[in-house]
Amino acid sequence: MKCALVTGGSRGIGRAICVRLAEMGYHIIINYKGNLEAANETLSLVRAKGSDGELLQFDVANKEEILQLLGGWVEANSEKYIEVLVNNAGIKDDGLMMWMKDAQWENVIDTSLGGFFYVTRIVLNSMLLKKYGRIINVVSLSGLKGLPGQVNYSAAKAGVIGATKALAQEVGRRGITVNAVAPGFIKTDMTEGLDEKELKSMIPVKRFGTAEEVAHAVGFLASPQAGYITAEVLSINGGLYS
Ligand code: NAP
Repeated sequence: MKCALVTGGSRGIGRAICVRLAEMGYHIIINYKGNLEAANETLSLVRAKGSDGELLQFDVANKEEILQLLGGWVEANSEKYIEVLVNNAGIKDDGLMMWMKDAQWENVIDTSLGGFFYVTRIVLNSMLLKKYGRIINVVSLSGLKGLPGQVNYSAAKAGVIGATKALAQEVGRRGITVNAVAPGFIKTDMTEGLDEKELKSMIPVKRFGTAEEVAHAVGFLASPQAGYITAEVLSINGGLYS
């Protein structure tokens, strides 16, 4: 059975990616951190597309949990194969660096960059054996440009961009592509507190993007037809920065 694992699949961009990959016929493994209700809602949306899926709760910032729960899942499900991995789970915890606490730095780095490393390392093995795989990392405009107040978040996302390009070169000969999508301002819980009215005036297309627009690009990069695209960072930002 061909599966797609989406970290942070319970809400926002991750949920829309689960739905898009379900439309493409994948069995969806929906990872989430704590919001069971939202994760179940994603599962219902996946089923409404005629596909199926399952929930897999673990904290991507906790390498022991990843090893135990994702590693355990891989071991227990030898008939299932994760063909598509979307490293989407991410948090922000903004503040000027001068006043940034250790925990703000560590939590954001551990979730995006640590999560990428520990989750991907487990999933990579079967992709290498099958000589096929699609890895898509959800980064950010902040990781390309750097944004004040987001030294932690910009560093985490820039780290994932570097890792994307390096890993793509390691595994290209095995039929595995590794790409990133870099959203700008997308309407989700993460951007809820932002002043959309003011910010959208800076965006050439004059609006925030939708999670479905990001998911569409992820679906494209996950498709077999995108096999000659790797080590790429695709901006999805309404022209704000590229
Ligand atoms: P969101 O609405 O806040 O949703 C975050 C998702 O990540 C939830 O499903 C959450 O699970 C999960 N999550 C958070 N920490 C986790 C952890 N430690 N382990 C496992 N799952 C975890 O965020 P979003 O806006 O959809 O963002 C998704 C990704 O896009 C993030 O990587 C973010 O940095 C990136 N991004 C977003 C924007 C934007 O404008 N929204 C722009 C650029 C990049 P629970 O539901 O269980 O809490």
